[in-house]
Amino acid sequence: MTRDELAANFAAVEAKIQAACDKSKRKRERVTLVAVSKLHPPELIRLAWELGHRDFGENYAQELRDKRTALADCRHLIWHAIGPVQPKNAKYIARAAHTFHALDRFEVAQELSRRREAPTLRCLIEVNVAGEASKAGLAPEELGAFIESVRVLPLIAIVGLTTMPPLSDDPEASRPHFQKLAALAKEHRLTELSMGTTGDYPVAVEEGATMIRVGTALFGARVTAPGT
Ligand SMILES: *Cc1c(COP(=O)(O)O)cnc(C)c1O
Repeated sequence: MTRDELAANFAAVEAKIQAACDKSKRKRERVTLVAVSKLHPPELIRLAWELGHRDFGENYAQELRDKRTALADCRHLIWHAIGPVQPKNAKYIARAAHTFHALDRFEVAQELSRRREAPTLRCLIEVNVAGEASKAGLAPEELGAFIESVRVLPLIAIVGLTTMPPLSDDPEASRPHFQKLAALAKEHRLTELSMGTTGDYPVAVEEGATMIRVGTALFGARVTAPGT
């Protein structure tokens, strides 16, 4: 992808975010665009950084570790770890991430806390709002006890909730799930809402997303899958 193509993709996404903010009377500054760069080479991330983008999302802990090393000279680059992690790999997130979007069990929280050095790692809990059997994330009714259990752990803080609604071709199908996540965050007095991907981010912004995770619309299709 050329610099011009990448710049055009960012501009197109930016226009849609702005339109969704206008429609829902939200301030653009309240929405962070996390550019999901998983499975794309560090050079493409560097190009986006040169265009002025700062927030990047990675799914896989070791890939995050490697890219952070490769891009260590990019000042003010902010890493978001957006995928669930095994406890044994949580150390890579503890070292590299500014925000972790996919906390789903106590053992991971414990390991992140143990491995983290200041500043505190911002964590969002992944919630399986639609109750899909195949999906990671806590059930809504488990949230209260989970938040209570991790409150004592130093150097991590629960700041919000994340969800990935059921796959659909219709962005409107995500809306009730986003509304449910927003209601849950309010109930638990959490301010950050990580929701919305290429298929449905304008709807997510309308429903109060503070972080949207957009990959394909910015960087194009991903060709490889991990471990294949
Ligand atoms: C890959 C991924 C995204 C980005 O998805 P796109 O459809 O490419 O925008 C967002 N969130 C998570 C958790 C992902 O794994």
